[in-house]
Amino acid sequence: MKAWVLKGIEDIEQTQVETPLINKGEALVKIRACGICSSDLDRFYKGAYHYPLILGHEIAGEVIEVAEDLDKNLIGKKVVVFPLLPCNKCQNCYNKNYAQCENYNYFGSRRDGGFAEFLSVPLWNLKIFENRFDFLNASLCEPAAIAKHTLSKIEGKEICIIGSGVIGILIGIWAKLANLEVFFLIRNKAKAKFLEQLGFGVIFSTTKKFDSCIECVGSEESLQSCIEITKSRGKIILVGNPKAAINLPQKVYWKILREELQIQGVWNSEYPKDWDFVLKNLDKIPAQKLITHTFKLHECQRAFQTLSSTSNFHIKGTFINE
Ligand SMILES: [Zn+2]
Ligand SMILES: [Zn+2]
Repeated sequence: MKAWVLKGIEDIEQTQVETPLINKGEALVKIRACGICSSDLDRFYKGAYHYPLILGHEIAGEVIEVAEDLDKNLIGKKVVVFPLLPCNKCQNCYNKNYAQCENYNYFGSRRDGGFAEFLSVPLWNLKIFENRFDFLNASLCEPAAIAKHTLSKIEGKEICIIGSGVIGILIGIWAKLANLEVFFLIRNKAKAKFLEQLGFGVIFSTTKKFDSCIECVGSEESLQSCIEITKSRGKIILVGNPKAAINLPQKVYWKILREELQIQGVWNSEYPKDWDFVLKNLDKIPAQKLITHTFKLHECQRAFQTLSSTSNFHIKGTFINE
């Protein structure tokens, strides 16, 4: 099969690799769409667990073959893939907190993922979605499940999101669906119009205060903004992966103590709960607006160049395989 193979830092190319074998309990999925995550860009620019590696963990496709021990009726079904493969031995797995598994595997980072024609996937990691939804829409299921998980941590009615990438926007979508008042604190005026068209409030300064603030950037500056605009005893929810060390001035740190702010981390999603919710509500996600770029199998260089450039407007880029 053909795949985008990462061979080293900033070294990716479309090559021919072995089509995956179907082991017991697995289905062979023909990948139709796979979202390109900012963590894929990080692995491209900063390094991956090992090489060669096929990135991509936001996977939607169709089952084209199954192992002998699986039901043949699965063939032809449209599916999304939960990319985490838990050890099923540790205490966190026992408690079904798979995101905290102590010895997990992961499609697209620790093992080969979705920027390819095919992937063999254990039945447990597959979720069937309705025929009326398309693959592009369904490829947003993984980030949308993280956004749904984040929603479960929010307190209060008025919230502010800092970071208007796809996860931030998806958190906003679920929060609005839950009747919360959603604002984005932003600097980029081009983004303001886009967010307003999606029905969100937009603020440019840190004068208003909120019950919960969600940090989706992973920077010192945006964490400080969160601390500034959260009400006393309010909640700060950390979602963005840190780009570097995050330091706080003494005065800002004191504010956490004096105002008794709560700080909550979020990692991945709860499977299958959050995924079931998303697949029932796929029609609430404006995929045509969020997926601003698509890239075919032969366009891997262009994909990584386009999505890492700051000069063009992009929200989500997605690999597609026809
Ligand atoms: Zn991701
Ligand atoms: Zn485990």
